[in-house]
Amino acid sequence: MGFLVRRCVRCGVNAQMDARGYTGVDNLNFEVFVVCKACGKTSIYSGQPTSDPVQSTGQLDASRHFDREPLVSIPDIPILSSDIPQRVGELFIQAAASRRIHFYDAAGAIFRKTIDVATKYLFATDPRLSDKKPADAPRARIQALGQFKILDEEIVDLADVALIDGNDAAHDTDPYTANEAEALEDLTFDLLDRLYVRPARIAAVKAKQIAAGQRKT
Ligand SMILES: [Zn+2]
Repeated sequence: MGFLVRRCVRCGVNAQMDARGYTGVDNLNFEVFVVCKACGKTSIYSGQPTSDPVQSTGQLDASRHFDREPLVSIPDIPILSSDIPQRVGELFIQAAASRRIHFYDAAGAIFRKTIDVATKYLFATDPRLSDKKPADAPRARIQALGQFKILDEEIVDLADVALIDGNDAAHDTDPYTANEAEALEDLTFDLLDRLYVRPARIAAVKAKQIAAGQRKT
């Protein structure tokens, strides 16, 4: 059978990993199920074998690409709207992934950073805020978005709660619980929806109405 030589993530030994099964993702890319010769445990690597990896002999990545690290599959990561700025979306996904692998303190700290970056980005890009200077502290920035009528009172309160919660995760000695991290994810998701997704949806409808002559501005 074909094999890879990799540092096994199960036992830490640099070992031969024998191919025992595979599935094609497309015509070029495959996921290959391997068993470590040192510990007998399994991993899955993405790669581009030239023939059936189980039937072939020799090193699978001798002539074609195979990833150095095995696949890490985290279930049920949310899919975000493309209206959310890329960097903000990346942070949210990092936090959501941390929560799903039970790193609740990391999740809390990164959800807070997501809100911090999302509100900074809004100050930098929203024309309604072009002459306004953002506050350094995230909570003060959220409060200001309420005062300038960018956010309604309910979401300002939600964000304030989220920031206090996130702050706990970053600084408290108590561990952050699964429930707290989940509640913070819901709050952050709701905030991003109101900051970016709904305004984009409204703008799209308005543009359509203007094009149809139903509305002037
Ligand atoms: Zn191993």
